[in-house]
Amino acid sequence: MSGFTTRRALFVLPDGITYLDGNSLGPLPRAAAERARATVADEWGPLLITGWNKAGWMDLPRKLGDRIGKLIGAPEGSTVVGDTLSIKVYQALASALELRPERRVVLSDSGNFPTDLYMAKGLLDSLGKGHELKVVDPEAVADAIDESVAAIMLTQVDYRTGRLHDMKALTEKAHAHGALAIWDLAHSAGALPVDLTGCDADFAVGCTYKYLNGGPGAPAFIFVRPDLVDQVRPALSGWLGHAAPFAFDLDYRPGDGISRMRVGTPPVIQMAVLDAALDAFEGVDMADLRARSIELSEQFIAEVEAACRDVTLASPRDPAHRGSQVSFRHPEGYAVMQALIARGIIGDFRAPDIIRFGFCPLYNTAEEVSRAAAAIGEIVATGEWDRPEFRTRKAVT
Ligand SMILES: *Cc1c(COP(=O)(O)O)cnc(C)c1O
Repeated sequence: MSGFTTRRALFVLPDGITYLDGNSLGPLPRAAAERARATVADEWGPLLITGWNKAGWMDLPRKLGDRIGKLIGAPEGSTVVGDTLSIKVYQALASALELRPERRVVLSDSGNFPTDLYMAKGLLDSLGKGHELKVVDPEAVADAIDESVAAIMLTQVDYRTGRLHDMKALTEKAHAHGALAIWDLAHSAGALPVDLTGCDADFAVGCTYKYLNGGPGAPAFIFVRPDLVDQVRPALSGWLGHAAPFAFDLDYRPGDGISRMRVGTPPVIQMAVLDAALDAFEGVDMADLRARSIELSEQFIAEVEAACRDVTLASPRDPAHRGSQVSFRHPEGYAVMQALIARGIIGDFRAPDIIRFGFCPLYNTAEEVSRAAAAIGEIVATGEWDRPEFRTRKAVT
């Protein structure tokens, strides 16, 4: 047992629900509900447009960037919040490519989340300079890094299998070959200790609605290495990334440091909610959280495998090579997950056959893990999943 104490009481977790999907959408922190109310009623209502100054709305992107920075090993002033992760991927890649103008290859892997690959391909096509998006197996990334690569663009934790890349080793290898390293921390931030400085990462991006519990559609973040940021030209040169937005110059001049990665008006209510959500991490030692996450996921694997022979582990068995999620394969995975959800156990399904469970030590408990494992065993053993209502696909899986 690690020294980790659950902070479950900080979250709204409906009775009868075992929530193992905080890797996809974190639950509502009680403080966030109150902050949303207060931002609307005490700020927007009475302050009207003066809220931008009086309530510090305009500083939220930097303030939140610094709070997230603490969880990912980024120094103060190197991270900013805004837009969606797809946009932040585009920004990071566009800037990286300009820093390596003579190179034409972007290296990624087949475990990356599709939007990262789609955004990269879209950008490369728009540039029209003959860039290539090279997508290899996750295990083949290291060997594919050579002098043609402008940037590696990888998601540290595979959204399907939970496989964890060695960020430090791959970044080192990229640098040894003159390439830059862009890391997507969508399934890392708030889930495990990340040390961007120690890994010497050049760019990092991530979302805040998964393990950081910022709520549906919460804004993303971007980090740029401090000694690189002033060479970076923002491809999305919005007015709030300008050196002096309220000078209303006709020409663009990038702002100092990470501010240049801002684009347009921040979503203030959503950012206020995120600010309150991040309070749940105050005083949390990420090493303790990681130890607890490993305990929960090891317990889950052992209990599922004991209860059920008809699922196969899709995640790495070694916890050192896994993020904070565990996935199993079952040929009828979609229906199995629907049957679990009907019993109040919420994970999710990723095509073609993966059932996925996220473990968030802030609120998940050993009892929940046992309940979920036992339910999987029963549902698979009895064929409870084999009903028409469980086989009908919904839009969001
Ligand atoms: C969740 C996730 C996204 C989602 O991008 P949005 O723009 O926020 O919809 C992108 N990339 C990765 C790796 C993800 O896990």
